Order: sequence, then C-alpha cells, then structure tokens
Amino acid sequence: MNDESSFIRIRGVSKHFGDFVAVDDVDLDIGKGELFSILGGSGCGKTTLLRMLAGFETPTNGSIEIDGTDITAVPPYERPVNMMFQSYAVFPHMDVEKNVGYGLRKDGLDKGEIDSRVDDVIRLVQLEPFRSRKPDQLSGGQRQRVALARALIKRPKVLLLDEPLAALDKKLREHTQFELMNIQDELGITFVVVTHDQEEAMTLSTRIAVMEKGRFLQVGTPKEIYEYPKSRFVADFVGTINTFEGTVSEVGAESITVTCEELPVPVTALRNEDISTGQKVCIAVRPEKIFISREQPDDDESIAMPAVVDDLGYLGNRSLYRIRLANGQIVQVSRQNRRRSARRFVEWEDAVWVSWRPRSTVVIASGD
Ligand code: ATP
Repeated sequence: MNDESSFIRIRGVSKHFGDFVAVDDVDLDIGKGELFSILGGSGCGKTTLLRMLAGFETPTNGSIEIDGTDITAVPPYERPVNMMFQSYAVFPHMDVEKNVGYGLRKDGLDKGEIDSRVDDVIRLVQLEPFRSRKPDQLSGGQRQRVALARALIKRPKVLLLDEPLAALDKKLREHTQFELMNIQDELGITFVVVTHDQEEAMTLSTRIAVMEKGRFLQVGTPKEIYEYPKSRFVADFVGTINTFEGTVSEVGAESITVTCEELPVPVTALRNEDISTGQKVCIAVRPEKIFISREQPDDDESIAMPAVVDDLGYLGNRSLYRIRLANGQIVQVSRQNRRRSARRFVEWEDAVWVSWRPRSTVVIASGD
C-alpha cells in the first residue's frame, strides 16, 4: 500500500508497561474501507495496539493518524472511532431498540433522527424480529449483533473489533463472519479486527498483520500470508505446514535446489532473488499441495519420494494422512474426499509415493 492511500497511519508506535514492551516500534498503513485483521497469539500485543487506536492507551512513542489528522493525543470520545469489546457490553434492562439507540440519545439527537437511524441499523444487522426483546431473551449471536449495531449507529470512520466472534459456536461464527463482511461492504467503514483465530482472519480480511512479541512479522493479503509466508513463525501459525531445514546446493536461472538432511532427495523450488548457494534455509510445503500415489509419478519435475502410510484421519470433507519416509520422517498430507465411497484410497502401512511440484515449495531464509 502506498502512503497516499493510507487512511490509518501508524508510525513508530510503541507501548511500554514499566520494563515490559507490549508493542515494539510498529509502522502500519490501513486503507479506507479495508477489513484489516491483526492476528497473533495470546499476549502478542494486539489488544494493546487496538486500545491505542481507540485512545484507551497512550503510546509511549510514535504517532497515529486517521484520515489525515494526528489523533495521538486526542481523547477516545473525540476520535472518529468506535470499539466493540470482547465481552459485548449491552444494557440488560433495555430492549434491543433502546440499546441500539443509546449512544444517539446520549448525544441529544432529535427523536425523528434517532428512530430512523435505529431502524436502518437494526435492519442492517437483521434484528427486526427481536427489536422489543431484552438481552437475556436473545442468543449469543443476537446479542453480538446488538453490540455491533450499537457500535455502528454512531457512524464511526473506523470500527475496532476485539475478538468479535469469540463467544460464538463454530457454525454461528462462520455465518456471522459473512454477515460482518456484508455489513462492512455496505457501509464502507474501515474495520480493524483483533483475533487469534487464523481461519477467521483468513475469511474476513482484505489484509492481515501477523504479530508476535509486539512486532509485525508480515503484513499481506490472506493469500500472500498463506502461500508466501516469509518466516517460519508465520508459516506455522497460519495453517498447517511441513518444514525441513536445508542448504541451498544450486541456484539456476529459474529454480533453486535445496538439500535437506531429513529428506532423501534434493528439493527444487522456484528461484527467489535473495537466495545464494550455500545459504541455510527452511523449506515448507502445505499438506494440500502434496500428492499421494501408489506408483512413482512419471514426470521429471515433481519432487517424489517413496514412503509408507503411518496414520490417517477422516474429517468428512477431507482426510489427513501422516506419511512416513524411509528415515522415519513424517510428512503431513491432506486430500479432498471428492467421492462418496466406503473404500479407503490407501490403508495403514500401504507403500506409496509422496510428491509435490517445485512451485509448491516455500523457501524461508533461516533465522526469519
Ligand atoms: P490476548 O489475545 O490474550 O488478549 P493480546 O495479544 O491482545 O493477547 P495484550 O492485551 O495486547 O495481548 O497484552 C500484551 C502484553 O502486555 C501482555 O503480556 C500483557 O500482560 C501486557 N499488558 C497489557 N496491559 C498491561 C498493563 N496495563 N500493565 C502491564 N502489562 C500489560
């Protein structure tokens, strides 16, 4: 993203709590209308960063701009920002309509304006049938939508969401993810979502920042993060991946070859500009990029090795295989179950070949 298209501009922002550095000198640009996720494990600093955007924490260093205005020293209630919290704060004694309109009543808007905006937002979050119910007469997902409606009604330029779907069960979470995306699309508000759930971040986001120990390890589209992880941490954190340590033994015009102690054959990969012969690297391959076959693949291009089926698990839409190489090394493979068949494609201890294409090999410089 270039500098001009940046709607939220974070520069050199750190947050220290005593000696502890929760957020460590981060720069970030978020575009207008993006649905941007900050993804990371517990304690990595993502909520602290969100709280600095909201104004509930003051950065120790650095500056934050929204829509061209420096808001670093602006108090929370004067920022064009609203935050939806982990636990949805809804008033138990007010019905849905009153809950949703609360912020506007507090701001002293006239009744006609409040009623029309409440109607609009309730329609948007699909709470019309429940508008006269109290929160304890609603499901978790419906309460979550009340909280969302309350945050949206003030028409913030930026909506901050801290683990917005954490309290929902898997099915409802998936459904609500799509609702959130539709609402965001309709309103064009910039959403910044904090989550530790990589699947949620992948589904929702235009872009993702993967955070660890107060820093961003990688910022990119879900596809870039998944297919082109730049570090072992990102590769491991987002989805499942097989990784092997190795040394670059050859650098050709378009491809490179890596020799790995744990693998019986050299591994080829598409050439990356920054790689040189003798360099230590980690190679990584996603389980769904690996094929299992009974016969040795007959193309010269694939990286192929003989193996034995160590374990297999049926997950409905796909199966997971743990394949054991001759040296005992395990390779994880996943395969779509396209056919509805009682017969298994391979069985425990079957002799097979595992193979993948050079373009599926991810090369990560060691130390990253
Ligand atoms: P989680 O997913 O568990 O909420 P997180 O990535 O959102 O994690 P933060 O809440 O940003 O994590 O906290 C980052 C680190 O800063 C944690 O180690 C936390 O203990 C520490 N921290 C947060 N707030 C304070 C505070 N007010 N005083 C001291 N340390 C704090």
